[in-house]
Amino acid sequence: MTAAADSPAVYARGVVKEYRLGPVTVQALRGVDLELRRGAFVVMLGPSGSGKTTLLNLIGGLDQPSSGELAVMGTGLGGLDDVALTAYRKETVGFVFQLFNLVPTLTALENVALIGELVGDASRAGELLASVGLADRANQFPAQLSGGEQQRVAIARALVKEPPLLLADEPTGALDSETGATVMQLLWEETRRRGVTVIMVTHNEEYAKVGDLVVHLRSGHVTDVHQEAHPLAPRDLAG
Ligand code: ADP
Ligand code: MG
Repeated sequence: MTAAADSPAVYARGVVKEYRLGPVTVQALRGVDLELRRGAFVVMLGPSGSGKTTLLNLIGGLDQPSSGELAVMGTGLGGLDDVALTAYRKETVGFVFQLFNLVPTLTALENVALIGELVGDASRAGELLASVGLADRANQFPAQLSGGEQQRVAIARALVKEPPLLLADEPTGALDSETGATVMQLLWEETRRRGVTVIMVTHNEEYAKVGDLVVHLRSGHVTDVHQEAHPLAPRDLAG
């Protein structure tokens, strides 16, 4: 796999994704064209059912397009087999989900270290927890943490492997607006500090204000990509 440094973070042409449910075929994506530059904080907006999660999962290599061309950081994802897709996910993508998806029987530190072990470096787990403000919560289990704290653990976990691409599907969906802003701020800082490309899916129109790029989806199409000249930092969003 070669990944030319000057290729866009995401390049999509005519991406279609169909799901077969018995005799019925659902077209979740109906020909998506999209180009996202590297290092941007991308906010992907659209109503429920518009295809946001489907598109994010294709970009993350969790699933593959039915047709069309999709490349991330210069790597075409369409032709990859399962082994290559797994390697792609491991090397390139960090995921943050709405419901945190922490392992309930592991402490905060162990949840982060687990992913570190998978990629061969668990030594930074403590440091990463500290970087999301949770040094003093390291030995607590998810059930002993608030929603916002759990999501910060999930972000630390996503950052262990220093991915160039961070994908977050409704990461604030289960949080109050102030905690949500704190979580978004952590994701946003990854773009500013390390040049990570962050794609955050949300249905909250208010969050368009913090996107360097704002992508609108509707009924399986990208209907608009707006470049924001002066995005707000998430911490400056009015609660
Ligand atoms: P969003 O994240 O914007 O709410 P999704 O990408 O989850 O939208 O879904 C887009 C459309 O695809 C919806 O009509 C949904 O029902 C359908 N869909 C999503 N995932 C599946 C699946 N695994 N099987 C069948 N249909 C699906
Ligand atoms: Mg969704």
